[in-house]
Amino acid sequence: MPPGFVIIGASLAGGVAAATLRQDGFDGDVVLIGAEAQPPYERPPLSKQYLRGEAPFEKALVRPAGFYEQNRIETRFNTRATRVDPIRRTVALDTGSPVHYDKLLIASGVRNRRPPIPGLDLPGVFDLRSVSDADALRSRIVSGRKAAVVGMGFIGCEVAASLRQKGVEVVSVDPSPTPLFRVLGADVGRVMAAVHQDHGVQAVFGDVVTRFEGGAGVERVITRSGRRFDCDFAVVGVGVEPVIDFVAGSGIDTAHGVPVDEYCRTAFEDVYAAGDVANHYHPIFRKRMRVEHWQNAMQQGAAAARSMLGKRQPYDAIHWFWSDQYDVNLQYAGFHHEWDQMVVRGRLDDRRFLAFYLNQGRVDAVVGLNRGKDIRRAMALIKSRDVVDPRQLADEDIDLRSLAQTQITGDQK
Ligand SMILES: Cc1cc2nc3c(=O)[nH]c(=O)nc-3n(C[C@H](O)[C@H](O)[C@H](O)COP(=O)(O)OP(=O)(O)OC[C@H]3O[C@@H](n4cnc5c(N)ncnc54)[C@H](O)[C@@H]3O)c2cc1C
Repeated sequence: MPPGFVIIGASLAGGVAAATLRQDGFDGDVVLIGAEAQPPYERPPLSKQYLRGEAPFEKALVRPAGFYEQNRIETRFNTRATRVDPIRRTVALDTGSPVHYDKLLIASGVRNRRPPIPGLDLPGVFDLRSVSDADALRSRIVSGRKAAVVGMGFIGCEVAASLRQKGVEVVSVDPSPTPLFRVLGADVGRVMAAVHQDHGVQAVFGDVVTRFEGGAGVERVITRSGRRFDCDFAVVGVGVEPVIDFVAGSGIDTAHGVPVDEYCRTAFEDVYAAGDVANHYHPIFRKRMRVEHWQNAMQQGAAAARSMLGKRQPYDAIHWFWSDQYDVNLQYAGFHHEWDQMVVRGRLDDRRFLAFYLNQGRVDAVVGLNRGKDIRRAMALIKSRDVVDPRQLADEDIDLRSLAQTQITGDQK
């Protein structure tokens, strides 16, 4: 009997992993378990084109709907894994008998945080994670209506931009001094604040929504400082947490997600993890990280599948993500939490720049506005871990590719 592989989480990482198993010649059983009703789909359009009604859902599918049956991938949608037993090698389901696995991939992603704010359950208070969330929110989008956006991280910023593009009046509230402050810092954050203000968002910083009020539905938000904003609906985007409850008590470690090595392996034999849930060891940065990016879910899903097939290729992609807000295309590459120096190439005020986050002379990450090509070029530099001269980094006349002294092979050159 060929072995049977089970994947928990039928989204980007899980869907790509299932497809990669077949693509790479795996002939055994593949069972793809997903709590959502839909086949695996990509989430980025949910806050952008799909939310604005500019693209159909089918465009977001990871593979065409018929792909799974055609490739003998058994799908169990609308089905939740409730427990993993890595000794008996079983996954319990909320819909019936447990399934047995020879190898298991955990790709359960993240869920939105639900802060304990009174009134959060009022009709008209939304968050955004799934296509059904996007459909519910979309049905409220009417030009001239008023919306409150709670939290100006990436989801809040993108939703605020899409709402403004549809003519909705938007007030946003965030405790930080700027949007995207936690990830990108104050300098880049101020640029993004100006972008939103120029597009008519009434952006409030340094304040917190402490209450949603209303009768049959939300009518206003109240902040800690006593501000009151009337709204027809509200969108909350205040962060996410890894989905690991079904692993609890199994013996599989759940420190900040599911810790895995550079081969996507947990410490438990034949149990792997990939995507947003995976707290993975990165061999280039030499530390663990958990990221919530489309590119990581896709590439790590494929890497985990190959690892399950016994191929020993470490997953060492330089992480990358993008965000579209109005006419601004923001791209980020690398990984950083803190930095001891920021170097800017171009001018922040021009909204066409690169900002490099350095630690001890090495570029850990870069963010760029409307400079996608340069972000690609900077990835080789990040991967090299070479110490760079900040003056050269800032100099527009110097090709970023020439600053990496270490030879990088492959498509990141
Ligand atoms: C609105 C939105 C916009 C985004 N925009 C961008 C962007 O512009 N650029 C970018 O780089 N990234 C973006 N992202 C992030 C990107 O979508 C994620 O990184 C990616 O979806 C992660 O894929 P994943 O498969 O690891 O996890 P997820 O997409 O979170 O999927 C996990 C799946 O597992 C299922 N699941 C969880 N628990 C169980 C269980 N017990 N049993 C069965 N199934 C379970 C869930 O229902 C879900 O379907 C965006 C995300 C959102 C929500």
